[in-house]
Amino acid sequence: MTKKIPLHVKILLGMILGLSWGIAAVNLGSAWVGFSKDYIHPFGTIFMNLLKLIAIPMILTSLVTGIASLNDIGKLGRIGGKTIGIFIGTTVIAITIGLVLVNIVQPGKQISEETRDMLMQGNQEQMMAKTLAAESVKNRPALQPLVDLFPSNVINAAGDNGNMLQIVIFAVFLGIAITLIPNEKAEPLVKLMDSANEVVMKVVDLIMIIAPLGVFALLSAVIVDLAKDDPSQILGLLSALGVYSLTVLAALFLHLSLTYLGLVRFVARMNIWDFLKKMRPVQLLAFSTSSSNATLPVNMENCEDELGVDEEITGFVLPLGATINMDGTSCYQAIAAVFIAQVFNMDLTLLEQLTIIFTALLSSVGSAGVPGAGVVMLVIVLNSVNVPVEGIALILGVDRILDMCRTAVNVTGDAAVCCSVARMEGKLKSDIV
Ligand code: ASP
Repeated sequence: MTKKIPLHVKILLGMILGLSWGIAAVNLGSAWVGFSKDYIHPFGTIFMNLLKLIAIPMILTSLVTGIASLNDIGKLGRIGGKTIGIFIGTTVIAITIGLVLVNIVQPGKQISEETRDMLMQGNQEQMMAKTLAAESVKNRPALQPLVDLFPSNVINAAGDNGNMLQIVIFAVFLGIAITLIPNEKAEPLVKLMDSANEVVMKVVDLIMIIAPLGVFALLSAVIVDLAKDDPSQILGLLSALGVYSLTVLAALFLHLSLTYLGLVRFVARMNIWDFLKKMRPVQLLAFSTSSSNATLPVNMENCEDELGVDEEITGFVLPLGATINMDGTSCYQAIAAVFIAQVFNMDLTLLEQLTIIFTALLSSVGSAGVPGAGVVMLVIVLNSVNVPVEGIALILGVDRILDMCRTAVNVTGDAAVCCSVARMEGKLKSDIV
């Protein structure tokens, strides 16, 4: 009998081949880079598009089915309260871990003035673009994020510039309304949604068939992008920003192993090795795509099928998590802000560091689950403590690599919280048997 190759092995293989192809193309010259851009990278875009395509139908069908099966609406409020409470608690811990590490290691003090000028010069254009993007967010009225939660048009909400939370709100309304109408009227729609949910899950399986090709294309694009016209740049950047990058990685690792695995072990009461083993494909995909949104459908399917969480919990907790729970991002923002301050020889007071906790919490909530969103919102954190925003030019060179790592942490956090809420609500498969 032939043994099926596990998904995470296939993704890993795609990643390794993609990295090798990218490095080879960069070294072989512009013809190869051009070939990769024209004929390989589009497959990465197709893969990302397909994942995003299925995310909205998946949220709608699983949330509507899930809420419709609740016979007590008050329960929804309770689940929401617990979920948001744990999200905020873990994010504050993540930022604190980041702040403690960056103050102990002081990576900014290791950067000489020449290195600082070299790093700043390289990324002026990108820095301007990010600051501009942050400007539009900063100038919004205070209650705009709340207003943005409520869509005026469901098609637009599901469109490219839509907001996933708007779909969550719409699905919650539909689900609640279904429970409020007579059973015989509601039943056909519930059945339809239920079977649509099965179909959507199958579509995710179909999309995952091309996952190895997708991550191959995505990772070769990352390398080509990083190297741009000068391949030796990567090593130079990594050595200049090595201590900073290692500080971010160490903080992410600490948060993952202490906070998330603590939740998994003591709240979800699951075996941590089993959890980590089952999360491998999701983490690898998050790493390759740098997008919590693109990883969402796979995270939802994995939490239901592998970790045994009921769909009413995954349908609620995971889309919310992909949008507002970004511990990896907030931890990185705290470190980056203090790092930039250190490079500019600014000593941040305790009050300023507390301000960072608050603004990094808010800006990780406001960051979209797409590549590079964290660095845009970092501008807001920097502004809050009067650190020059031009400083983001310093860290842009390694941002993509750190983005890949923080996204993997973000999706792991969503799944850990999902399992914990499910256990509290008696909605893990092991509770039911
Ligand atoms: N790429 C991250 C995510 O999708 C957000 C960020 O940190 O830039 O979770």
